[in-house]
Amino acid sequence: MKIIKIHTKERVEVIDITSEVRRAVEESGTKDGICTVFTLHTTTALILNEREERLINDLKNFLEKFVPSKGNYKHNEIDSNADSHLRAILLSPSISIPVADGDLFLGTWQSILFVELDGPRSRNLIVKVVGK
Ligand code: ZN
Repeated sequence: MKIIKIHTKERVEVIDITSEVRRAVEESGTKDGICTVFTLHTTTALILNEREERLINDLKNFLEKFVPSKGNYKHNEIDSNADSHLRAILLSPSISIPVADGDLFLGTWQSILFVELDGPRSRNLIVKVVGK
């Protein structure tokens, strides 16, 4: 298991971590199996999609539309990030990718994207590769 540390700079930010995960797969020595990437936080998420600037902007607008930054949130009585938690719930805390020939088996346009929803903060992700 490998821990990837990320220091985010914005409140909502999308960071491509494909090369870091690929390196973790190589270091594991696994040729055939499955790789799981998991975030240890309740206000972050992982997605597998195209890394394209305008699409990332569309994602941010999508999140703002479905979970507005400002709202009558109960959690904000004790914290100020209910929108971040709810956005994380809409997305996913983990993704799994097949490993073949010692490498991630990804489609041409698929990148592993870490989504910060309450930055800037220091974050920890786990990469676990299982196989032979
Ligand atoms: Zn909170």
